[in-house]
Amino acid sequence: MSFELDDEYLEIQSEARELAASVETIAAEADASNVIHPGILAALRSSNLGDLMVTEQYGGRFQKIDPLAICVVREALMASSSHLDSLFALQGIGSYAITVGGTDEQRAQWLPRVRAVEVLPALALTEPDAGSDLKAVTTSLVATADGLVLRGTKAFISNAGSAGFYVVFAKEGAGFSTVLVPADAPGISVTPTPELIAPHVLGDVRFDDVRLPEAARLGEPGAGMELVLATLGIFRVSVAGAAVGLAQAALEEAVRHTRTRIQFGRPLARLGPVAQMLADCWTEIEMARLLAYRAASLARTDPGATLQHSSMAKLAASEMASRVVDRCVQMMGRFGLVRDSKIERLYRQARPMRIYEGASEVLRLGIARQLTEDVA
Ligand SMILES: Cc1cc2nc3c(=O)[nH]c(=O)nc-3n(C[C@H](O)[C@H](O)[C@H](O)COP(=O)(O)OP(=O)(O)OC[C@H]3O[C@@H](n4cnc5c(N)ncnc54)[C@H](O)[C@@H]3O)c2cc1C
Repeated sequence: MSFELDDEYLEIQSEARELAASVETIAAEADASNVIHPGILAALRSSNLGDLMVTEQYGGRFQKIDPLAICVVREALMASSSHLDSLFALQGIGSYAITVGGTDEQRAQWLPRVRAVEVLPALALTEPDAGSDLKAVTTSLVATADGLVLRGTKAFISNAGSAGFYVVFAKEGAGFSTVLVPADAPGISVTPTPELIAPHVLGDVRFDDVRLPEAARLGEPGAGMELVLATLGIFRVSVAGAAVGLAQAALEEAVRHTRTRIQFGRPLARLGPVAQMLADCWTEIEMARLLAYRAASLARTDPGATLQHSSMAKLAASEMASRVVDRCVQMMGRFGLVRDSKIERLYRQARPMRIYEGASEVLRLGIARQLTEDVA
């Protein structure tokens, strides 16, 4: 048993760190933007990291999508820019349903372009009245003699307006199905979502009787929930990686500050309560990183265990990141409060992680249910 990344992952980590370092000078500007930042897009395109989001057959690096590699990359990217991290993550989150549920034609049409970051994908689950409760979606898919008709509105969709296609989760009869909708299909309109405390490329997407061929389906009719759960199983754990990267970046800011800021005749780091905060932050980051890497490793080999361990890792790491970044602001005093400083950005960016891809309370319910399966 090894608790360290092997050479292959260390190589991926150094590629990701190189990309992260290359955007440092534009990160603050990009992270303040709710539209795709051209410099960040160009940087991601010029890296080879899109290779991790598709399988070997479509130009990818591995035979199967590798959650550990994605986790390691998100850890490095998030430490530099949340915009870069989201853009990278969405290449996989938005296209995984094609990888596992698409036909050969759908895969051949889209996946090489996803790999090259020539097309941006979007995954459209959430609706105005359906967030955590996915089964409450009302967007409808109806099969007619002339093909499929999609009607409804999705809300808070990452990449909306910039995506080349939407993977849409919809109600079909008594079940749920998933369809692949090219962004230029007639009947689609996008309105930007109000700006968040940590800006993000988001929009609401309306599908007004969008007509699609039967071949637009991803998976069988009624298999939509399976595809969504498969996507979350693989990608939820990568949020844990991003949360660890964010917390590590916050701690580095606090360490730099508390080493050099002198109060009461000593560096802050030598004052007992500050030293305790530093120690707790570092320890909690290490714990979350181990859990994230283990869950991501399990997701490679044991898909049955994936969702539970991914949920635990995402829960632990996102809650940890909020605690850590809050303590780091505290250690930096008034300097931690300056708008658009690195630590202030990280403070805002930590918050949504406890809500998207499974709010903490919802994850806890699922984890507890696994533990008490036999209880009525
Ligand atoms: C930055 C960002 C990017 C996003 N990108 C996408 C995207 O690309 N595609 C997409 O489809 N969606 C996206 N979303 C939406 C996201 O998936 C939802 O915000 C999330 O599923 C939670 O739904 P909600 O916000 O409607 O909260 P609600 O479901 O209304 O829940 C609100 C709160 O109630 C509590 N709660 C809810 N249910 C339970 C329960 N059963 N038990 C106990 N407590 C509960 C939790 O505390 C939860 O935070 C994004 C959101 C954000 C913030």
